[in-house]
Amino acid sequence: MSQDKEQLDPMEELKKNLDQAFKQGKSFFPMGGGFNPQSGISSPSEKKKDPEVDEGREEALKRIHGFNLKPKEIRDYLDRFVIQQTEAKKVISVAICDHFNHVRRCLENPDLKERDYAKQNVILLGPTGVGKTYLMRNVAKLIGVPFVKADATKFSETGYVGGDVDDLVRDLVKNANGDIDLAQYGIVYIDEIDKIAQRGEHGRDVSGRGVQINLLKLMEETDVNLQSQTDLIGQMQAMMDFQQTGKPRQKTINTRHILFIVSGAFDKLGESVKKRLATTTMGFGASRKSEEEESEDFLNEVETRDFIDYGFEPEFIGRLPVRVACQHLLPEDLLQILTSSEGSILAQYLADFDGYSIKLDVSEEALEKVSRRAHKEKTGARGLMTVLESVFRDFKFELPSTGIKQFKVTGDTVDDPSSDLKKLLRENISEQRSVLMSEVTTYGQRFENQHGFTLDFDEGAVLALVEESLDTDKTIRALCELKFRDFHHGLTLISRNTGQTIFPITGSVVKNAEKELSDWVVNSYRQQSEAESE
Ligand code: ADP
Repeated sequence: MSQDKEQLDPMEELKKNLDQAFKQGKSFFPMGGGFNPQSGISSPSEKKKDPEVDEGREEALKRIHGFNLKPKEIRDYLDRFVIQQTEAKKVISVAICDHFNHVRRCLENPDLKERDYAKQNVILLGPTGVGKTYLMRNVAKLIGVPFVKADATKFSETGYVGGDVDDLVRDLVKNANGDIDLAQYGIVYIDEIDKIAQRGEHGRDVSGRGVQINLLKLMEETDVNLQSQTDLIGQMQAMMDFQQTGKPRQKTINTRHILFIVSGAFDKLGESVKKRLATTTMGFGASRKSEEEESEDFLNEVETRDFIDYGFEPEFIGRLPVRVACQHLLPEDLLQILTSSEGSILAQYLADFDGYSIKLDVSEEALEKVSRRAHKEKTGARGLMTVLESVFRDFKFELPSTGIKQFKVTGDTVDDPSSDLKKLLRENISEQRSVLMSEVTTYGQRFENQHGFTLDFDEGAVLALVEESLDTDKTIRALCELKFRDFHHGLTLISRNTGQTIFPITGSVVKNAEKELSDWVVNSYRQQSEAESE
């Protein structure tokens, strides 16, 4: 097989990158989120390197110190991204304003007595995929503070198995690019909190209780050690920083101003609230609401004692004073997400195709069908992603290699993507052929650049390659590399014998490449010996 000089050996590339990075002493990992093996706590010298990061940080700190947003401004911002969840938006906007107003007051007056202040930690109830995380992520983005999300089930009481809840706070520092000043105002989001409250067969789940108590400490106020005992790389980094700067790193971060949001589906909670209301009052009376809507109504009536009955520690639930239930999303809400939410998943798909300069014209009917199908998935707006992925998967794979630059997405596309794609390819076969033809020329040029021989493809050869590529679903490049894999050796021999450097490639050479090549080589030896004997 011919060696392609353009393609770098991946191991070589990795080695080169590693060498470079070690020389520059830089981290490979993107700032703002994700895993950073250097514990994410950058040294002061590192922080100075990116003026944009510094600017963002300054802006965010200025916004926190002079916090002056009104609840309605936050709600209006959330409306741009999150469809429905009107009550949740309202409650969260007020909680965020109260929280950051309090932070501002504390900064203005460090002696402020905070003992009586109850932090506005929030508990969000409601099914999966309806925008609970999305709401909080957007709040964090608006204010410019780091955001961390984790599932409560990954933590264990001791932190030996699974994670340690303190990791949440350390992750905030990582996501703030090592900036502790900013991380101390971050937002921590813990999902699946209902899973650590449920009682097991033998009474209350002991490990879940331990995790609740550990979380409680974080939510109240504590100093978290920035160096996890299990993070050896982080400890080494800290030592190196100390050697470089002569100053020890700040070792702890205080959780006083970190806002905690917990959430969960709380499937059975609605039922128990319903029972309580039925015994104390008349409940909501006879209603014609769907089961889903009824359960939402009951979740909105949840009280502290319902959470305690559910299996929460009273002290834990007491630290979560702000409670709100999010609604199920109906097909019309999902449609609205597709058409009007900023950053909707459809916009992502359009951008993905645009990356290949392919434009989509999506009909209203197609969007409605996607929304209805997504609703049946029962995973909220996540269903949209599942449906769009199954509709567009093959289009994404096939179209970039064709000359097709636009296509209409109709109801038929959603119902039967594979037939619709075949139809599209059939209708555009002439464009596809011309793209494949130009790929033959590209292969010829690459071969010439690499080996110094011209493969002169005639029309018959080009057509044979194009048809074979269409029939076998192989790219022209893969097909040619396979067919002509021994050519540079053979042509080198021929050229040595006869001086020939241009080789006509016909349809029959394409069909029988190996045999034709060996005939050429034999002929070249014959020609050479004839020339010598003359
Ligand atoms: P959960 O309620 O389980 O936290 P998420 O907020 O993570 O769900 O939702 C998953 C994704 O679905 C979001 O990133 C967002 O793209 C989309 N989404 C969910 N709910 C909404 C909504 N109400 N409005 C707009 N987009 C939404």
